[in-house]
Amino acid sequence: MPIWVHVPPERSEAQMPIPKHIDRQTAGANDSPLPSLDELRCIVPLAAREQNFVQRASDTIKRILTGEDPRLLVIAGPCSLSHLDAAGEYALRLTKLARELEDEMFLVLRAYIHKPRTCLGWKGFAVDPFLDGSNCTAYGLRATREFFVSLSQIGVPLAVEALDPLVHQYVEEMVSWTAIGARTTESQMHREYASGLAHAVGFKNPTSGKLQPAFDAVRAARSAHSRIAVDSSGRLTQTVTAGNPFAHIVLRGGPAPNYQPAAVQACAEELLHNALPPWVIVDCSHGNSQKEAQRQVHVFKECLRQITAGSSPIRGLMLESNIFGGAQKMHEHAAKLIPGLSLTDECLSWEDTEELLCAGAQQLRKRRLERITLDRQPLRIQPPAAQMPRLQHPDGTA
Ligand code: PEP
Ligand code: MN
Repeated sequence: MPIWVHVPPERSEAQMPIPKHIDRQTAGANDSPLPSLDELRCIVPLAAREQNFVQRASDTIKRILTGEDPRLLVIAGPCSLSHLDAAGEYALRLTKLARELEDEMFLVLRAYIHKPRTCLGWKGFAVDPFLDGSNCTAYGLRATREFFVSLSQIGVPLAVEALDPLVHQYVEEMVSWTAIGARTTESQMHREYASGLAHAVGFKNPTSGKLQPAFDAVRAARSAHSRIAVDSSGRLTQTVTAGNPFAHIVLRGGPAPNYQPAAVQACAEELLHNALPPWVIVDCSHGNSQKEAQRQVHVFKECLRQITAGSSPIRGLMLESNIFGGAQKMHEHAAKLIPGLSLTDECLSWEDTEELLCAGAQQLRKRRLERITLDRQPLRIQPPAAQMPRLQHPDGTA
């Protein structure tokens, strides 16, 4: 009898209606044991140098949110990672671009490995890495961790969605920014989990487009909680979280978009009204693009216009982008799937993404240089005549 099945003393085991799926001492036909985080860390460790890199990236994002770092945060990458070779290629391209644009933007790879589904569908690389319903999660978790460690080695900051905190905690050390998705923003467990994360967490507005649940989520995540969790050794534990002061909102649209100036300003005012810092990230995809990848270009440009016009609360933008533009349908033969083409939401192509980011950075640069020039303008106000140095005539008379 496993210790977690409680048998009231007055009833014998034979009388107990113990569901078959509980009554198993060890892993049975339908259970596959997974390594604990400690076990996986032994096989796939994150070295001190990479830990420092992740820490620095996560600190940079926090400084961008507070405005201490004036650059724009850009989270770009596939809706879901499916083929690691293609994802690695995308990451290399993004890193090269990140170096070129680093004066204006901080580029972070969208590395989503666990997908929320409105109803059914493939749920992401971490849980079904062979893309065929075989759900080899032990392999998926290990391969994801290995991939994320190697990305940290080459200096790629990572953004993921915490769909299931149990999955997220296997990769948390390599992550610099986490999203709580539109379908889980209202979940108390996700809010409590976010309250214990050391990096910034963005709560999407729900699919309804309503903002109040996201404000509530941000407030809840900023507070301390006591929660039940699984610790790094795999044991259930009660843990007390400190509260996450870098929880913020991500506008992703709903039945209607919410990236336009009026919507963004209204959101910032409501945040202040809710005693929350007015930090906004706009997701250019999903409800804001009405799921049409190419519309992200318009959303991105419009947000950039708002930012360069001044005093915008937008701190970051998110793009769904892949090597190839568009999306493909799941295929029963996984080998027929095209690496670099989205398996979930439509994405922008790499070429379109690069062009958009370069043009955006140019605009930001122009604004930055204009500001520097303005700051250096000589004062037009003349000192009062009394303070003017009296010019001496060479012959000594005034
Ligand atoms: C996503 O980021 O791919 C996603 C599903 O987002 P949302 O939670 O906003 O629908
Ligand atoms: Mn998506």
